[in-house]
Amino acid sequence: MPSKIDWPKAIQPLLKKYKTTKHPLEYKSIYQLLVMVVLSAQDSDRNINTIAPKLFEAFPDMNALSRATEETLFPFISKVRNFATKAKWLIEIAKTIKEDKKIPLTHESLTSLKGIGSKSANVILREAGKPAEGVIVDLHVVRVAPRLGIATGTDPKKIEKQIKEILPQKDWDAGMAMSFHGREICRPTPKCEICLMTPVCHYYNTVIKKLTVK
Ligand code: SF4
Repeated sequence: MPSKIDWPKAIQPLLKKYKTTKHPLEYKSIYQLLVMVVLSAQDSDRNINTIAPKLFEAFPDMNALSRATEETLFPFISKVRNFATKAKWLIEIAKTIKEDKKIPLTHESLTSLKGIGSKSANVILREAGKPAEGVIVDLHVVRVAPRLGIATGTDPKKIEKQIKEILPQKDWDAGMAMSFHGREICRPTPKCEICLMTPVCHYYNTVIKKLTVK
């Protein structure tokens, strides 16, 4: 493996592969995505996808949600982790925004809302087709990025900073691409034998390759 990887070039196959892959949250509008992103914190996308249809039947848009109370919302989200806190956040967000068309689509305005951190804001912007204002670093990226060698450490903020320094802004969707890659291929037990990143991957070239050569 070359000692210094040209990451803006090396990351392209991964970006290309996942360019049009939609987020695993099964949303039908940006309103639904925003609500599901808030609910999915420390819970699984699968669980949120399961409870979503009934929730959105009862609260089809931001306006309906702005009229919700904790009592009317609880029955639909009681299987979600920290649902009481999340209900408060969602009602506050809906009362602030009021209408779907007023959902703000900048990183700064999204992160000013309760329950929406930098990662969630980046997910919403990506799915809304807005240019990346940050790099999505979730649990998968925290595993994949150091394996690849594009970043070091386990702190999501520091990993995001390193990736932003190494890649041009047009390629900041690399975070989401690494996240999809982590769900599919670079699992906790990585499927290196079918991975397209082996030529540049630090972990593969320093650990796996040596094991398989012996
Ligand atoms: S080569 Fe293996 S460790 Fe490296 S990114 Fe691919 S699956 Fe992950």
